Amino acid sequence: MNTTLAAGRVPRRLVVKLGSALLTNDGCGLREDTLAGWVAQIMELRGDGTQTSIVSSGAVAEGVSRLGWRRRPHALHELQAAAAVGQMGLVQAYEQCFQKYGVRTAQILLTHEDVADRRRYLNARSTLCTLMELGVVPVINENDSVATDEIRFGDNDTLAGLVANLVDADLLIILTDQSGLFDADPRHHPDARLIHDARAGDAALERFAGAGGNLGRGGMQTKLRAAAVAAKSGTDTVIASGLEPQVLVRIARGESVGTRLRAEQAPLAARKQWLAAQTHVGGTLVLDAGAVRVLTQSGRSLLAVGVQEAHGDFRRGEMVRCVDANGVEVARGLVNYGAEDARRIMGLPSEQIEKALGYVDEPELIHRDNLIIL
Ligand code: GLU
Repeated sequence: MNTTLAAGRVPRRLVVKLGSALLTNDGCGLREDTLAGWVAQIMELRGDGTQTSIVSSGAVAEGVSRLGWRRRPHALHELQAAAAVGQMGLVQAYEQCFQKYGVRTAQILLTHEDVADRRRYLNARSTLCTLMELGVVPVINENDSVATDEIRFGDNDTLAGLVANLVDADLLIILTDQSGLFDADPRHHPDARLIHDARAGDAALERFAGAGGNLGRGGMQTKLRAAAVAAKSGTDTVIASGLEPQVLVRIARGESVGTRLRAEQAPLAARKQWLAAQTHVGGTLVLDAGAVRVLTQSGRSLLAVGVQEAHGDFRRGEMVRCVDANGVEVARGLVNYGAEDARRIMGLPSEQIEKALGYVDEPELIHRDNLIIL
């Protein structure tokens, strides 16, 4: 169970997934008044100290309208073209709404591969985290011009789960046009009951989502799957109706609305477990005694200055072994610099990284969040 929320505190990091149905006029063109309402709620939560990332669809719908088409096309290449046109309007609309509060937005277009590939995963993660620390609101969509997963299946449900992983969110809210997950299809069973609380990834839930073979775009199945993905980083998911007044604010402040799918672990513990499960090791760093002490006793990050040797041909984002002078493994982690660069900066203080490489990525060689001590 997610202890942060159980303690009744507001989430520190929230991911909100808004599907096309909640942002557009029946799939054709954006509804800016509705969008302004979501932004107002996100701003209210910001007052509570919650950093929000928005995973927003609506690009295809806005593109269809901008291109003067009467209905959503079927051919994937036309959908992709519509998404490329509509994305311009989507980000413009968010930027305008947030500008009223003096807040900046940033566009992030991702594909599932970006999250699967180690190096790109680290890049996306550090960009998103940096934006949030800067007080900027990331507006994320699938990069529909090069990928088609969400156009075909999910309307960004899965992407929202992956973003929750990237930013170690405490909570993912997936808004839809239904009140949540029911134990039977409420359209055919008037006595169907809303499931208030369940475990994310519980296979028994599938039968409630799967009734009628509903594998369609953005159905309950993709939402359950997104919740299972989010749970991997310890993120709870709430599936709720976007038609409920003040729904984001109420959920984030702990009110029970819709269906809550609980992750079994808190974000940091889940992340460490995920790290521990990574079996591929790309290389070895030999640490000096000071670095060994800092890592094992103070739980701090590994800096280049404490590294004496770097073996192997690892790439940025790969898992490396950290050993002491006797070759005893003390930690493992995802390294921020590839082998060649690591060899050039080892032994140097972080301020000298830029001079040595001509660029600087992170100031740490391995960030403490990406490190497990053995
Ligand atoms: N990423 C797409 C969008 O923003 C998914 C939704 C759709 O296929 O309509 O529009």
